[in-house]
Amino acid sequence: MIKYFHAHRVIREKCMGHMTCMRRCPAEAIRVIRGKAVIADELCVDCGTCISVCPSKAVVAISDIFEGLKKYKYKVAIPSPVLYSQFEPSIHPYIIHMALKQLGFDKVVDIFFASDTLSVVIEKYMDDFKGRLPRISSHCPATVRLIQVKYPDLVELVVTLDAPREITAREIKENLPIELGMDPDDIAVVYISPCPAKIVSIKQPAEKARSWFDGTVSMNDVYSLLFPHVIGIKETFDISMVPDDFYFSADFTTFAGKNWSSRIGNRLVVTGVDHVMKIFDDIENSRLRNVNFVEALTCMQGCVGGPFAPENPYIARSNSYKQKSLYENIADLDERKIIDQYKNGYYNLENPVLPRPTKYFDGDLVTSIKRMKEKNKVYQKLPQIDCGCCGAPTCIAFAEDFVRGETELMNCIFLSQKVNLNNWADRENNQ
Ligand code: SF4
Repeated sequence: MIKYFHAHRVIREKCMGHMTCMRRCPAEAIRVIRGKAVIADELCVDCGTCISVCPSKAVVAISDIFEGLKKYKYKVAIPSPVLYSQFEPSIHPYIIHMALKQLGFDKVVDIFFASDTLSVVIEKYMDDFKGRLPRISSHCPATVRLIQVKYPDLVELVVTLDAPREITAREIKENLPIELGMDPDDIAVVYISPCPAKIVSIKQPAEKARSWFDGTVSMNDVYSLLFPHVIGIKETFDISMVPDDFYFSADFTTFAGKNWSSRIGNRLVVTGVDHVMKIFDDIENSRLRNVNFVEALTCMQGCVGGPFAPENPYIARSNSYKQKSLYENIADLDERKIIDQYKNGYYNLENPVLPRPTKYFDGDLVTSIKRMKEKNKVYQKLPQIDCGCCGAPTCIAFAEDFVRGETELMNCIFLSQKVNLNNWADRENNQ
């Protein structure tokens, strides 16, 4: 079984066994064992719901800390565009670049250009595509993992194009060492992430051997360090400080699909994991008609709702709209060059997205069928009320755990009571 990396963990001492995370986890990856939440590695899709809902704040991020970057001679920050939306619109995006440099980065590069480029690519991809519809964007890594774990039939629908952040990092890794005359190993390209899913997509990509990034930090960690610098710079900032080639665009991660595929007809943007699952259920059951392209983001309101983004997503969204009207400029895209690169496979994912093997379905077909039958048999014995007292989110999940050998039937309080009553009745009869 593959060892899966995750960018969050449960602090056992803080966990009060509330079960909120267990009940809300869309992948049913959490069990509460002896009063503490435990995350099943191979089922977790890194959507970060557990981080957002834990009343004790017991689920926390694991991200590269700045210490790890000290060994590099030159550091490039690539912030998720969500970072801008965390600040009020009177703060010019370039102030945030200046503040990142004060934190120790030598260069700051946006993903806007790659994002706008990929909207041209995706339009071409959709024009040329002749297979099964709708296609599902590969942008949100939590969505991709959700498909791998819970909707294996849908993996073939995932668009086989890479994400803007990876395209941006690749261009830096290929060009900057030549430009600076430096050893590529001395240059670190670091992503500032609003979510655990993107951190995981860098540490352990689903569709390639290795990400183009050298490290990643959670936006929460950066924000608290960045804030005093931003406020300090704002006091003396003058618009003439902004270089002529500074480019700011409204990115689709903050607008949930604004730029990306904006020229594609019949597209659907859905945010929030429950809504995403509803759409995927509809696709699986052939109930979604006349939709060619689905942008599915597991966070409510899109990436501005990412669990590592400190600002309220509604405020962040509103900030984004204002920043767009104040600072956006139009990219000068060479569409012919982009299409040529696309035809040469430059934007393609390295490997296809495949279903993720889980412990439950990891055996051969005969074993899987046997387990399925056993699961159904156990499920029939259960009260089927999903009370959660056994530490599993549903009776079905409990039956699956039993088949995996990870729980005992007596952990269902209803079964254990029945057995105790039977034992008691037997004793009474024997007296
Ligand atoms: S919607 Fe955005 S922030 Fe949320 S999990 Fe997906 S990529 Fe991460």
